[in-house]
Amino acid sequence: ADEAVLDPWGSSTVADYRKLFEQFGIERFDDVLPEVPNPHYLMRRGVIFGHRDYGPVAEAMRNGDPFAALSGFMPTGDPHIGHKMVFDEIIWHQERGADAYALIADLEAHAARELSWSEIDEHARSYILSLLALGFDPEAGELYRQSDNRELQDLAFELGAETNFSELQAIYDFDGETDVSHMQSVVTQMADILYPQLDEPKPTVIPVGPDQDPHIRLARDLAARMRYFGVREAFASFEADAVERTLLRQAYDAREDYADEPELPRCVEAADYLREREPAPADARESVVEKLDNAGKEPIRPRTRIFDRNATEEAFEALIEAVSGEKRVYDEHVDAFDLDHAEADELAREVELDTGGYGFLPPSSIYHRFMTGLTGGKMSSSIPASHISLLDDPAEGYDKVKSATTGGRATAEEQREKGGKADECPVYELYAYLLSGDDDEFAEEVYEECVGGERLCGGCKEQAAELMEAFLEDHQEKRAEWEEKLDELDIDFDS
Ligand code: SF4
Repeated sequence: ADEAVLDPWGSSTVADYRKLFEQFGIERFDDVLPEVPNPHYLMRRGVIFGHRDYGPVAEAMRNGDPFAALSGFMPTGDPHIGHKMVFDEIIWHQERGADAYALIADLEAHAARELSWSEIDEHARSYILSLLALGFDPEAGELYRQSDNRELQDLAFELGAETNFSELQAIYDFDGETDVSHMQSVVTQMADILYPQLDEPKPTVIPVGPDQDPHIRLARDLAARMRYFGVREAFASFEADAVERTLLRQAYDAREDYADEPELPRCVEAADYLREREPAPADARESVVEKLDNAGKEPIRPRTRIFDRNATEEAFEALIEAVSGEKRVYDEHVDAFDLDHAEADELAREVELDTGGYGFLPPSSIYHRFMTGLTGGKMSSSIPASHISLLDDPAEGYDKVKSATTGGRATAEEQREKGGKADECPVYELYAYLLSGDDDEFAEEVYEECVGGERLCGGCKEQAAELMEAFLEDHQEKRAEWEEKLDELDIDFDS
């Protein structure tokens, strides 16, 4: 099919990454790369190829400001070398000062994949061990299981109040057969994504595969939507200050309507609301009404008044002035008519924070390429020969690499003449994604020798297989060390 389909629970690969830029608005990572201090090798080599809004994360990193990184793992099988990329991405951000979170998406595994709790417990343990063995610092970061985290579930409940079925239907293709727990696992995941900002809003990056992008889009949307939530709460309590700020919020909302229409319906509505509501803070109410009346030349008739453009502009300014008290918030932000998106967003967040809301920043994301399976095609947990599990016996890992498909030519002679096709070779991917580590020169050397015909597949695979064996040995030793210390961490693996 022509359309790129992104299904977080499906088995689709994303064959053409260009479509992600065109159809879904994912931005090219190359564009933000110069802003990243000492970028990770996966970034340098284009394995991390896309992002949404990574700029604020890079900026926080450069300035030593607070930021966070979070990723969730669905414990549906053994962790494999594809997961290692995500572990590494979280750890790398943690080393650069991020508040790092890794969570076990056990509710999702149970609801969307129908795994039993005992399977989930076993896999959850294994994911955590690999994450720790690769360098995650559990003292500085936070590890949790969705099912154990009460705060998370409270947030999920509130997010659920802002999400409806038609929306999930449109985003995830849910239908009448979709069970309620699956839907609940979606709002839980939304809560995961926003969880690092519960105490304090901060840039947060979620490293994912591109198939997870629907979650990111929904979470970004909800982050903005929750702004209204806080404001509504304040409105309900009807304290003078909160009302003033709510009106400011509504005036802010109206600015886009104002661009095309010579009226400000929501401002008028806000004023009406204020007039009708009892008990009301008389001063604020009277002053808004009076100023609107004066500026509008004629007295306001609720909901029917259409100002001429100039009068509306004056009325709008009068309203802003009236509702923002000493104009503190307003004055910090240029003229409301000229707010660009970022400024307007900042204003809305301030209003929200002032009125007891969350003030979430829209979460950022980075996207990595999927690894090709060792047997060609997709790397899949259900095809053992296609991937290397982090739990594979090192000798077995060695054998799998030796048996892998390559981008080599039919004969050694042809290979010397034309060079190998490193770009289509799963073994080269192993070098680039994992075996070369931070050593760009080594990765480049393998590439150049391959495409230049100096490298033949037999020797190349032998070298890769040995490196893989050594990696697995080392990794499993570290897992064993953590196994002994795992009980000290506050994670419950018996559900
Ligand atoms: Fe792949 Fe190595 Fe053969 Fe090149 S030489 S095609 S990188 S196995």
